[in-house]
Amino acid sequence: MKHRAKQGLLLALCTLFVLYCGCKAKGTGCATATAQGCNGPVEVTVTADNGKILSVELGNHHETPEVAQAAMEQVTQDIVERQSLAVDTVAGATESCRAVAEAAKTCLLSLGFDEDALYVTLNAPKQPEETPVSSYDVVVVGSGGAGLSAAITAAQSGARVVVLEKLAGVGGNTVRSTALYNCVDDALQHPLGIYDSEEIFFQETFEGGHEMAKPELVRILTSQADEGMRFLEEQGLQFDTVIDNCLGGAHDRGHYSLAHAGTDYIEVLQTACDRLGVTIVLETAAKELIVDDGRVCGVRAVCRGEKQEYRAARGVVLATGGFGYNVEMRMKYDHTLTGDLLCSNSPGSTGDGILMAQAVGANLIGMEYIELYPLGDVATGGLRNSIPNVINRGIFVNTLGERFIREDAGRDDLSRTILEQPDGFIYVITDDDCTVRQSERDYLEGLVLMGEVVRADSLDELADALGFERDVLKATVEAYNLAVEKQSDSIFGRQTLLNALDTPPFYANARKPTVHHTLGGVEIDTYARVLSEAGQPIPGLYAAGEVTGGIHGANRLGGNSFPDIIVFGRIAGLSAAQCR
Ligand code: ADP
Repeated sequence: MKHRAKQGLLLALCTLFVLYCGCKAKGTGCATATAQGCNGPVEVTVTADNGKILSVELGNHHETPEVAQAAMEQVTQDIVERQSLAVDTVAGATESCRAVAEAAKTCLLSLGFDEDALYVTLNAPKQPEETPVSSYDVVVVGSGGAGLSAAITAAQSGARVVVLEKLAGVGGNTVRSTALYNCVDDALQHPLGIYDSEEIFFQETFEGGHEMAKPELVRILTSQADEGMRFLEEQGLQFDTVIDNCLGGAHDRGHYSLAHAGTDYIEVLQTACDRLGVTIVLETAAKELIVDDGRVCGVRAVCRGEKQEYRAARGVVLATGGFGYNVEMRMKYDHTLTGDLLCSNSPGSTGDGILMAQAVGANLIGMEYIELYPLGDVATGGLRNSIPNVINRGIFVNTLGERFIREDAGRDDLSRTILEQPDGFIYVITDDDCTVRQSERDYLEGLVLMGEVVRADSLDELADALGFERDVLKATVEAYNLAVEKQSDSIFGRQTLLNALDTPPFYANARKPTVHHTLGGVEIDTYARVLSEAGQPIPGLYAAGEVTGGIHGANRLGGNSFPDIIVFGRIAGLSAAQCR
């Protein structure tokens, strides 16, 4: 009864605009319907002939392409293949897949299909009696920046490589990132009067992490970041010529790719994998490491309900990312990180690699250090929709219109202090001087049009729009402008004082801390070999990227995750290929 009521409700939620065309015999025709997905209606068109489903096509939708597109398309194919709605959803894109199936159901019912028959599977995939086994030299688990870099490097060293990815698309958190890559770069830094060196980079990273990182790993990250950039360029990635300081980044040494986003990193790395013959298997979740005679020699996995084994003659690289999306796991290590906090992570960031490694005796370090990104989108927790350059060229005010911290503080201090402010969120405010780049200006105006950013022609107008006392905001901005003039922020101690906020229009948007990067994970050595609790390398097991701990310590410099994943991804790939 309950089930039927639920189905009725779901049907009611579906916007039906069924279009019959052609013959009206039962189970024949063409119909279009929508059902609610994660981000709005998902449109599906079904064509059938005499009770046979001929095609299911995906129409308009607003689901996140990197996360859901491939999964939704898979559902459409499965419905036709199996002649049934009894199809699997894909982890991480469950709601989007369900919407496809619901919309298809509405179409089929409207075409006269019998509801009960819709869930009978005619062509169900056969469950093999024996688990299929595939053999490679190197098995990489996870297809973010670390996994793909490891796969490329292993393949370049002559290994046959497979990458297992549990979601329906590659990229993990890497593809969602704003992707600033910290690296000392005299050629770009010197003309801008920026003095930097590998030693400064090392010291700032180590001290920024409150000296809790393993210094030998920090040394590798900071001294090999430039090689990592060259590697990316060799794969075809183009870098912009601007140098920027990331939020909580300590120094102007951040490099952007042309798209200023993780998308082009992943695109380039995936293309390189294809070129090198690396096999990438989607929707395949590694569940367990296979250990033979004390050596990790493969992975047990599940692909769409079917068990599989991937044997690794040389080594397994764990590149499964962090555990920010796993509320239970993050609360185990920091009970304050409850489920009502925003999270910027991919649904794949559930700590699988850490748990699999732990099950074979790996040591975990720094698990309690979980980073909140201070300026997440207040609605989604994502990193997008942010005013360009607001970190260097703007101020942060609370909901009373007052500054409360130096904006160039570390991410941990920023996040904690923002959450302590009234209402737990803040506004970032800047003016017309925030950018001279047309592309950034266009982006900003787009955000204004979308209602993500408030634009005002005067501070009074801005104060009214944000609900501040006009005098308070004016006093806040005047005090900041005076600090810029004197090049000394006596109240909060901000070091970066580039521009006064005195050129209308003014821009503001609300931001809030979001669970972003889990800094702890499996312990590795300088060869990216996973260490046991006794401090010995576990033969055959390597790890790179957010799944590891000990690289950033207790706090991460903004802009350091990209050199981390590329540098250590390459090391892990090479070590695995060479059976180090
Ligand atoms: P990193 O930045 O360290 O490369 P990402 O978050 O970018 O990490 O990528 C990690 C990838 O690993 C994600 O795409 C995630 O879906 C994938 N992943 C996580 N757990 C598993 C698993 N058990 N099997 C296969 N892939 C996994």
